[in-house]
Amino acid sequence: MSKKDTYRRTRAVQAGIGKDKGERAVIPPLYLSSTYKMKGLEDFPAYQYSRTRNPTRDILAQAMSELEGGHDACITASGMAAITLILHLLSPDDLLIAPYDCYGRAYRLMSALAEKGHFKLEFMDQYSERAAEEIAAKAPKMVFIESPSNPVMRVANIAAISGAVKDTNPDALIVCDNTFLSPILQLPLTLGADIVCHSTTKFLNGHSDVVGGAVIAKTKEIWDELDFWANSLGVIGAPFDSYMTLRGLRTLEVRIGRAQENAKIIAAFLEEHEAIERVYYPGLKSHNDFELAARQQEGPGAMLSFTLKGDKAQAAAFIDALKIFALAQSLGGTESLINHPASMTHVSMGQEAREKAGVSDNLFRLSIGIEHIDDLVADLDSALKG
Ligand code: PLP
Repeated sequence: MSKKDTYRRTRAVQAGIGKDKGERAVIPPLYLSSTYKMKGLEDFPAYQYSRTRNPTRDILAQAMSELEGGHDACITASGMAAITLILHLLSPDDLLIAPYDCYGRAYRLMSALAEKGHFKLEFMDQYSERAAEEIAAKAPKMVFIESPSNPVMRVANIAAISGAVKDTNPDALIVCDNTFLSPILQLPLTLGADIVCHSTTKFLNGHSDVVGGAVIAKTKEIWDELDFWANSLGVIGAPFDSYMTLRGLRTLEVRIGRAQENAKIIAAFLEEHEAIERVYYPGLKSHNDFELAARQQEGPGAMLSFTLKGDKAQAAAFIDALKIFALAQSLGGTESLINHPASMTHVSMGQEAREKAGVSDNLFRLSIGIEHIDDLVADLDSALKG
């Protein structure tokens, strides 16, 4: 790990620490006030109204941009608010290209806005050998990448796509949703992306008790435009949520490291299990994108999916028998979760798009937590035995 890399990780832990001038609190205080007193008609303090700027939100924004290696960040009310904010950089004639198997609600938002004429939209395969040249040939204004993809963990070649698209249009914007890996395991801005977004609801906050988002811009020009829209639309994150997320961020590296070690063991265990048809995890040699993931990512992450042999009744019995893994929508918390994408996170894509994206009815997605690995494996093993 380079010196720069260790520094940005230390900065995330140290964000705002010891900066309180009032009472010299080590942990920066939470500023809930919506408004700030001006000394007179000529006084315009840095903080005036919390939709525009808030001290607690600003500490989180700075920590996020330092972690991702950006110029600055906007903290939003949710991951969907982050995507909404980014889509406001587009005009009606601009073409947006997104992966056909992106997060179901992002797919729904993009489709609905394109239908209203906000921009032009094409969903494409971003994972094939020829993806970069095929995408560049369309001359898009914006390419939205989600890597690894949700839920079958396909890996897009971020550097190849960015390079090819910018060769044809240097003004194109490459956006990467880094929710599944976090800046500990992947740095899209160093691979050619201009904007990184997160659902901070997931690994960044990490405790399943905040819904939030973040958008990190590589340059001042991009950030200025995002900041204008964040303030104008009012999609900003609440101070309390920012405070909680900042607290979560301080342990991000430790949490994701432990969860990833658990995930590697569980993926290997499931791959050998007779009740399992197929496991999707970029850390497995059997995964189509194993080599690309090893080059592009600092680790395979803590998310994996698998298809179960058998019918719907067997799938229901498996879910019922689990004692530790809770059936729930989200991911990235300290606790392990299981999700059924076809009926939960990806239901809004519709049957046809789901089939194309490999979201079959017997597919399950696991978000691996930091519990003891022996208990997690035992829980899956006994539920699979039925
Ligand atoms: N991006 C990805 C990859 C997600 O998985 C999600 C939610 O699951 C979102 C964006 C949306 O985030 P939020 O639920 O915080 O609005």
